[in-house]
Amino acid sequence: MPDVMLRLIDDLWYKARHIVSDEYDEALFRLQDYLDLQIHEVPSGTQCWTWRVPNKWGCREAYIEADGQRLVDVADHPLHIVYGSRPVDAVVTRDELLAHLTWKDDRPGAIPFEFRYYEPYWGFCIPRNWLPRFAAERYRVKIDVVDEPGTLKIGEHFVPGQTERCILVVSHLCHPAMVNDDLAGVAVGVDVARRLQQRIVGDSGSSGRPYYSYRFLFLPETIGSVAYLATNEDLIPNMAAGIFLEMLASPGPLVLQRSYEDQSRLDHMASYVLNLHEPGLQEGAFRTIIGNDEMVFDGPGVRIPMVSISRWPYPEYHTSDDNPNLVVPEKLVHARDAVIDLIRYLEADYVPQRTFRGPLFMSGYGLWVDWRTNLKLNRALEWVMNHLEGELCIAEMARAVDVDFWELKGWLDRALDHGLIRRQPAL
Ligand SMILES: [Zn+2]
Repeated sequence: MPDVMLRLIDDLWYKARHIVSDEYDEALFRLQDYLDLQIHEVPSGTQCWTWRVPNKWGCREAYIEADGQRLVDVADHPLHIVYGSRPVDAVVTRDELLAHLTWKDDRPGAIPFEFRYYEPYWGFCIPRNWLPRFAAERYRVKIDVVDEPGTLKIGEHFVPGQTERCILVVSHLCHPAMVNDDLAGVAVGVDVARRLQQRIVGDSGSSGRPYYSYRFLFLPETIGSVAYLATNEDLIPNMAAGIFLEMLASPGPLVLQRSYEDQSRLDHMASYVLNLHEPGLQEGAFRTIIGNDEMVFDGPGVRIPMVSISRWPYPEYHTSDDNPNLVVPEKLVHARDAVIDLIRYLEADYVPQRTFRGPLFMSGYGLWVDWRTNLKLNRALEWVMNHLEGELCIAEMARAVDVDFWELKGWLDRALDHGLIRRQPAL
């Protein structure tokens, strides 16, 4: 049902969701209406690896006036201010003002999104076609900001599995008054989590739990991921794989960016499953398509294989045109279903480890496949029987012998029921 995703976007998109800010917090608290979340707080100034959590920042008031006329006012749109701006209250010349204005030449009607989080600066953003308004010689500029210690907040929805091996599903909730980047990823993540919780997906087995544990994380880009990992280092060894979701509401096709590891099991599975949903899938190596929180989770000294699923590029990126008008509801549903399917495959896959010796007496266990009815599987099983050494997962074997994943899994599950193999996690 796309309603949840659309309602969530409609609810949260216009908030000035700066990385550490009251409006980001409001959005995160509002997210709890959609999903149970544990909220982690990391205070400003906390050292997180080589990073430091910044102060809370918010724009109380910001405008430009000339000849008694207000030319730009952040009250009209949250993107008019450069995020992270320092306060200013001054009269400046036209040249000085222009040095502090940002616009986008290739999108003259849109306000660009600009941020300078970590350097002293002040500035405004305008549509390029507003430039003729700035004909006066002198301007009054006023920026009043909140800049004080606060807490960076991360929302986590944990789904316990049969194993502590964990799959991360990450999206970022920051970015003021924009939708595709990355409220769209948040919306898809929330809906996937809700469905996982309802056990619509997952090889739930007898315990009624998915096989893997899942951590759905909603956080401010980069610093949020650094803060989460640096304050939860003990969890990292069990983080088996990650999926970063972003920009999934725009009309373009799904695009896969592989992990830093490039040829991990997650990469192969993501490529295979996404191709089912997006035939002719475009994919690329780590950092050749996009750069986001996967740079943290799959970064130096962490190396949790993380793929990124997006619809990059889209022309409204980082502008006021990234608003609910660009949302194609069917694309959100399409992306959500692809992610659910990827999870379904990851849940189903495992590494079979033989417990028997000698050639397997298949008929004795009802495992023989008649070559007259299924020659391909009959032939494949001889190869499979010789490769149950705890090294290859089902997907790898299915590819090697060119048989359907689910057909081979069905056979192996029956062997598992007979105790002929042990199940080891594929991730
Ligand atoms: Zn962005």
